[in-house]
Amino acid sequence: MEKYISPIMDKIRKQDISETLEQAKIYAQVYHESITDRRVYPTEHAIADLNILDTPLNDNPEEPMEILKLLNKYGSPATVAQTGGRYFGFVCGSIIPSSLPTKWLADTWDQNPAMFVLSPIASKIESIVEKWLLDLLGLPDQSRVGYVSGSSTATLVGICAARNYLLSKKGYDPIRQGLNELPRIKVIVGAGAHSTVYKALSLAGLGSDMVRTIPADDQGRMQAELLEDIDDLTLIIAQAGHVSSGAFDPMEKIFEKAKNTGAWIHVDGAFGLWAMADERFADSTKAIELADSWSVDGHKTLNAPYDNGIVICRHERSFVESMQMSGSYIIKSKDRDGMMYSPEMSRRARAIDLWSTLKGLGKQGIGEMVYEMHIKAGYFANKLSQIGFEILNHIHFNQIIARYQSNEATLKLIDAIQKSGVMWLGGAKWMNKDIMRISLCSYKTTYEDIDVCVEEIERLIEEI
Ligand SMILES: *Cc1c(COP(=O)(O)O)cnc(C)c1O
Repeated sequence: MEKYISPIMDKIRKQDISETLEQAKIYAQVYHESITDRRVYPTEHAIADLNILDTPLNDNPEEPMEILKLLNKYGSPATVAQTGGRYFGFVCGSIIPSSLPTKWLADTWDQNPAMFVLSPIASKIESIVEKWLLDLLGLPDQSRVGYVSGSSTATLVGICAARNYLLSKKGYDPIRQGLNELPRIKVIVGAGAHSTVYKALSLAGLGSDMVRTIPADDQGRMQAELLEDIDDLTLIIAQAGHVSSGAFDPMEKIFEKAKNTGAWIHVDGAFGLWAMADERFADSTKAIELADSWSVDGHKTLNAPYDNGIVICRHERSFVESMQMSGSYIIKSKDRDGMMYSPEMSRRARAIDLWSTLKGLGKQGIGEMVYEMHIKAGYFANKLSQIGFEILNHIHFNQIIARYQSNEATLKLIDAIQKSGVMWLGGAKWMNKDIMRISLCSYKTTYEDIDVCVEEIERLIEEI
């Protein structure tokens, strides 16, 4: 057979990207160093300019340097400066200094942690981070950790493990039989549960009609005294950190109700589970370690880069069985094969980001960071109440629910704040009222940042 060499591919193989890498480093440095001076949200003009990228796919290869320049020219000005200190939208987080350079290196390695044989280094680091996390969060030693894209997926995995555990105890095999003919699992969630919990349930074949919702108190916490009919086919999904109020479900009471019933308890601790890393939150986090599975994000409170979701499960067998797959080409090892603990086979080696973030902070640093966020949220709330805001939650953790006079005034103000470029925050409904949500989730936020934001808010109030 004649050898075929594509002239296009021949050229691409010969591309030297050393200068382009150097240029990328310069662009990254400029971006990183200017983060405090950048607009927190891009201008409409910068967003509209992104249309310049919207061309048909080029027929022939373009040069790496030109592609990089194009991305920097139109991409950088259109970014949301959420790695700075004045972004308070949703629940996000910045990037700890130790994690970005290691992420660059790991991107260059391009490892696949599906199996040990695919990447011994990724497998080893997954195992190390697993041990660190269990120790840091005070979770049971026998637990196993899976690395997924975010808490949405982490919760889905926890639910799948629960489903297998509950049904297999009754002698069924949902992997083989499917759910149609099997007994119904009773799902119980608090009224304050995050919307991704419902999404995860539906993906796992547990529709919203199967869910019993327990009313919440004025902080969004599950009213555990209303729990009843818990048995060995019950899955309770509790929450550590309400997405608006930051409140923690009363885990001790939930466990009292569920004790000796054989129910499975999953804790959605997307951002709040990190409170377990600091004793000063011991009252809020009491008894969380008694659950069966937990979901938490590295990319929120921990300030690891995207995307870094973590699922932790006490029952290795149910965990692995629910994520099972096989194939004649799969090489299982006695070391960690990451795909046994996640829905995906191939994925990026995101545990490396967690490794360098955890190491860059240390145990002490993690506790201090989380506690600082809490104190700063209190400072922010206090300043807002001094200028006429109503604060509708206790500052349980790092979240503030604030309201200015009326629904209309609050909505107008949110809009003006979002356009200001000085800061960014979002809105939501709370007890049927329009409110502002403030999430203090960046390690970069300083008291000066908060002062600047409050001054800006005061100015905007005068203006509207
Ligand atoms: C953010 C969040 C989620 C979803 O997490 P992703 O990482 O975005 O998938 C789930 N639950 C709570 C409480 C959250 O704050």
